[in-house]
Amino acid sequence: MNPQPATSATSAAASASAPAPAERPEGIGRAVVLEEVGRPSVVREFPIPPAPAGGAVVACGYGGVCGTDLHLQQGHLAVPTPLVLGHEGLGTLRALGDAPAGDGPASAVDATGAPLAVGDTVMWASSIACGTCPPCRLHREPTLCENRRTYGVNRSLTDGPALSGSWADHIVLQPGTTVVRTAEGLDPLAAMALACAGPTVVHALYERRPVRLGETVVVQGSGPVGLAAAAFAQLSGAGKVVVVGGPAGRLRQAAAAGIGDVHLNIAEADDPGAVLDEAREAAGGDGADLVIECAGVPAAVAQGLRLARRGGSYLVIGQYTDAGDTLLNPHQIVHRQLDVIGSWAFSGAHLVEYVRLLPALVARFDLASLVTTFPLDEHERATAAVAEGTVMKAVLVS
Ligand SMILES: [Zn+2]
Ligand SMILES: [Zn+2]
Repeated sequence: MNPQPATSATSAAASASAPAPAERPEGIGRAVVLEEVGRPSVVREFPIPPAPAGGAVVACGYGGVCGTDLHLQQGHLAVPTPLVLGHEGLGTLRALGDAPAGDGPASAVDATGAPLAVGDTVMWASSIACGTCPPCRLHREPTLCENRRTYGVNRSLTDGPALSGSWADHIVLQPGTTVVRTAEGLDPLAAMALACAGPTVVHALYERRPVRLGETVVVQGSGPVGLAAAAFAQLSGAGKVVVVGGPAGRLRQAAAAGIGDVHLNIAEADDPGAVLDEAREAAGGDGADLVIECAGVPAAVAQGLRLARRGGSYLVIGQYTDAGDTLLNPHQIVHRQLDVIGSWAFSGAHLVEYVRLLPALVARFDLASLVTTFPLDEHERATAAVAEGTVMKAVLVS
């Protein structure tokens, strides 16, 4: 059910061990279900319903494994169970629903207005904002919507179609979903490499603090969000991008993909202070114009404040789950006169922008090399690999 031919040896192997589509009953979809927090997820079968009015059914060839999924499975975020997991995906449009009543012709265009037809390769935004809460209605911040409906996160099996996550061979997309066609010939693995991290960084850089031409940028963290931040900084014309992260294998992978100019290993350093000195030195001695936190570890914030030059900016993206308090020296904010800026998640428009930029990203960086694929049935092995940090980005293929 791969929408496009697999491009790497790993995905070819994955496809070989996945059950052949012909063996499955017609009209039945397979999906990874989180039955209950703390219990192993299982593959279950569900009937594939017709596309809802204003919505679509997608043969979901690729479902990304994100750090958030591990938090869901471990109960760090309150979610309704049972539910099909997976909020990042790419696949082939199988059916378009009828037009919603009184809404003109069927939704035969994507979010950019490009024509949409069965057989097209698409990505879709994980969340639908409600449009009526104060952030949506008054603050012009749909990203902060209080009632976001998110595929693979808060759509339980009994609350609408069961197939509402991307760790599945089919997903039912509801009206209001931001759907966007990917560029002709784009490697789906490259698109999936930064499927969640990419739009997250687009939101941070477009709406919160852009990278300006020639700036020196330090990125803390070398997971997908860190690499997305570094890659977008380079694409934005940064003069120099220093990645401070680890372990060594991840930094080597980043360098091999062309992401970042300098790579410093703080995760395995005996003397982290010396690494921070090195990072400041690499950023020009006084610190960077912009520091982007993508580490997710609270202690990184105290360090990051000292990596920015006086008058610089500190953009904090990585603290998506509440990992607790940390000690920091607030004098650093005042003495350095820092702009300290937070950025939360992304909305549909940011995914559209990520997809629009993918050809430029792929031309400059080897994004597909960051991905390791696993058959849907090996979802446990995939999540374990992400938890252990042995892969940069795991993607389930069906
Ligand atoms: Zn995610
Ligand atoms: Zn809202």
